[in-house]
Amino acid sequence: MRVLVTGGAGYIGSHTIVEALRAGHDVLVVDNFSNASRDVIARLGRLTNREVPVREVDIRDRAALDEVFDDFRPEAVIHFAGLKAVGESSQIPAKYYAVNVAGSINVIEALEQVGCTRLVFSSSATVYGDPQYLPIDELPLSASNPYGRSKLQVEDILRDQAAARPDWAIAILRYFNPVGAHDSGLIGETPSGTPNNLMPYVAQVASGEREYLSVFGHDYDTCDGTGVRDYIHVVDLAAAHVAALRWHDPSISASATARPCSRWSRASRRPAAGPCLTGLRRDGLATWHPVMPTRRVRGASLDGRPNAASMRCARAGGSGSADRPRPQRKKTRYRGPFFPIERR
Ligand code: NAD
Repeated sequence: MRVLVTGGAGYIGSHTIVEALRAGHDVLVVDNFSNASRDVIARLGRLTNREVPVREVDIRDRAALDEVFDDFRPEAVIHFAGLKAVGESSQIPAKYYAVNVAGSINVIEALEQVGCTRLVFSSSATVYGDPQYLPIDELPLSASNPYGRSKLQVEDILRDQAAARPDWAIAILRYFNPVGAHDSGLIGETPSGTPNNLMPYVAQVASGEREYLSVFGHDYDTCDGTGVRDYIHVVDLAAAHVAALRWHDPSISASATARPCSRWSRASRRPAAGPCLTGLRRDGLATWHPVMPTRRVRGASLDGRPNAASMRCARAGGSGSADRPRPQRKKTRYRGPFFPIERR
C-alpha cells in the first residue's frame, strides 16, 4: 500500500516508517521539520536499507499538500503532524488550532481530492480530560487545555466525515506516554529545543547532558510519594499504527471485536505494553487506547507482588495533578533513584 505519513520525521512517525516499510508498504514522509532533524531521514535510510522519500511541506499549506498528494497518490494516510506540548498550547493556542485543526482539515481535504479513503489519526489520551474513574473507558470525552481541545475537535470532524462518507475508513488512536527508541539506536526521541516531556529529560540526565532530574510532587499515594505514569514502547505504538491501516479490510473487520487491554504497563524501570485495539466499530471509526491509568495497590505491583523495583525508580509527576489534595500516605523509605534528582 502507498502510505503517506505526515509528521513522519518525528518521534512516533519515524518509528512508524520503519514498521510500515517492514510490513511491505511504500511510504512518503511529509514533514516541515519544525520538531525533527533532517538527519532522521538519512538514519531511516541506513536503518531500513532503503531510500526514504520525503517532502518538506507544512500541512497548513494546502496548495503544497495537494501537490504532494497528487504526485504520490496515497492509498492511506497516517496523520501525525502536529504540535503536542500541553503547556505551550495555553501560551500560543491559535498556533495549536492552526496546525492541529486547520492542518488536519487540509489533510482530510487533500485525501478527498485524490479519492483516498483510509486515514489513521494520531489523537491523544488528553481527550479523556480529567478521568472521573480508573481505569478509563472510551467515554466521556473532554479536554482541559487547547492541545486536548484541538485533538478533540479533529476527532469530531472525523466522526462527521465518517458519518457523511461511509466508504471512508478512519482509525483514531489515542495514547499517552510513548517512550523508548528503536533497538538500532539510530532513531529515538530527539525533540528540538527544551523537551516537553519526561523521558527525554531522563535520557539527557543519563547521558550527562543534564545534571539532574527535577521530580515534582512528593505526596501522591504511591510507594515513594512521587507520581506514577503508564508508558508504551514507541515501537509497539508504531506497529499498532501500521496494524490500524488494515483494520477495516473486509477480511479482518468481520472478526474484529472489542477486546479489553490484556497487557498493562506501569511506570517502572521497564516500559512494557503491547498494542491492543479496543472499541472497533462498524460505523467507520475505530478508537484505540493501548495504555490506560491503572488502579494502584499501595506497595504492590499490578500482579500483586511487592513493588521493590518501582521503589528504586526515579519518577516524576505528570501534567497538572500535583496540586490536587491526596490522601495521607504511609511513609516508606526511599531507596534512591537511578538518576540524580532534585526534589521539589
Ligand atoms: P513530534 O513532534 O516528534 O512529531 C511531530 C512531527 O510533525 C515533527 O516531525 C514535526 O516536525 C512535524 N510537524 C509539526 N508541525 C507540522 C506542520 N505544520 N506541517 C508538517 N509537519 C509538522 O511528536 P510525536 O511525539 O512523534 O507525536 C506525533 C503525534 O502523536 C502528534 O500529533 C501528537 O499530538 C501525538 N501524540 C503524541 C504523544 C507523545 O507523548 N509523544 C502522545 C499522544 C499523542
